[in-house]
Amino acid sequence: MKNERAHIGTSVGLLVLGAAAAFLAGREFLSMRSAEPVHPAPGLTRQELLSRYLPALAGTPGDTDVYIFEGREPGGTVLVTGGTHANEPAGYVSAVVLAENLRVAKGKVVVIPRANASGFTCNDPQEANPQRFTVETAGGPRVFRLGSRLTNPVHQWPDPTLYENPAGQMLSASEVRNLNRCYPGRPRGYLTERVAYGIMELIREEKVDLGIDLHESAPEYPVINAIVFHDASAELAALAQMSLQSEGLEFRLEASPPNLRGLSHREWGDTAGIKAVLIETPNPVQGRLKGRTTAALVVEGKDKAYLKASRLGRLFIPYDEKGVPLSERVARHLAGVEAVLQSLAELEPEKAVAIEGVPAWRRVLDEGLGPFLR
Ligand SMILES: [Zn+2]
Repeated sequence: MKNERAHIGTSVGLLVLGAAAAFLAGREFLSMRSAEPVHPAPGLTRQELLSRYLPALAGTPGDTDVYIFEGREPGGTVLVTGGTHANEPAGYVSAVVLAENLRVAKGKVVVIPRANASGFTCNDPQEANPQRFTVETAGGPRVFRLGSRLTNPVHQWPDPTLYENPAGQMLSASEVRNLNRCYPGRPRGYLTERVAYGIMELIREEKVDLGIDLHESAPEYPVINAIVFHDASAELAALAQMSLQSEGLEFRLEASPPNLRGLSHREWGDTAGIKAVLIETPNPVQGRLKGRTTAALVVEGKDKAYLKASRLGRLFIPYDEKGVPLSERVARHLAGVEAVLQSLAELEPEKAVAIEGVPAWRRVLDEGLGPFLR
């Protein structure tokens, strides 16, 4: 009898422990679905949701914040997207830094920090990636989500066996959840295609002249520290590269292959007829040669395995003990955006966009990200 009571006690205890573990794990899992706040700069003139441009996105996990900064003087319109790939933190954080510091004197700037909002609600399976990383600021720590390259399968499932994207290219199944393969989108297609279509509608409605999509890639991947340009933007990109070079920043110039379809800059250029570039910085949590993936690796970018790979000549970037910190990668993106805007002003003065308030890249390099996040 006494024994039996002990058994019941143990069982109840284990059930309570199990329920507590499930509750805590469930709470942690669901917390991935809430987006951290962005605190736009006082220069913000309008805040919209992507669903304003494609109402079919309202209430879906594909809807996302759009920050619009208009200058008093007329000029061109530029769209900057971060978070097309939510596992490329410098693209996302650079767009947040823009949204939190920008003032526009001439023309208009549209910033979408989380282009694929659904990708921020999960991370890549079997990668043991941290869910978040932290940047210290004067007002306390800012926590950011490290998401997935792809739309959350909970939001878009199942994948087809083969995926024919809206541009007519056959791709492997999971690319149906890659926003950077789903352009120009379909208004009633998969969620990711609807997001792409929503961005195309925004480009039309806001009369965007130039699109800049911010990305990162693995240090062992050749298209890195690069400006990838659409055919019609070759001169724009070349001018930007020269001015970056004169400031001591090396960027490769990469012509986007015309037969690789469905990418943001490709279809923004082909379908919407606007100027379009993509900027890449090195992301040490994205490659295959890295060691353990930690939140510190996201922010500090230091990895012994990459150091070894670099000494063996396996990387496409310079890499030493200093690593590739997030602040340096954001500095490169900001410098890239400024240089491309400068080129636009030189080539098409009537479409010039003049921005203020964005920290100079050298300051971000020297002072880190903290002072430039609200
Ligand atoms: Zn990317």
